[in-house]
Amino acid sequence: MATSNFYEDRRYCRACKRYVHYLQSPREAHCFLCGGAVRLFSPPDLERFRSSLQRERAARTSPSRGQRASA
Ligand SMILES: [Zn+2]
Repeated sequence: MATSNFYEDRRYCRACKRYVHYLQSPREAHCFLCGGAVRLFSPPDLERFRSSLQRERAARTSPSRGQRASA
């Protein structure tokens, strides 16, 4: 069943202030409701995504180095 993809495939529209269905054009994606540009994440979700990436990166690089530096 490929229909479930339709519901997952949403992006954040700043004008509508919510996740919306969007129309993908070669250059950008546009809100299905207002036609504005859409983003992958809402601002708070983007922050969460970034900080989780940083935490992951830090966890990957720091363990051996961090111990030495603090001692
Ligand atoms: Zn919109």
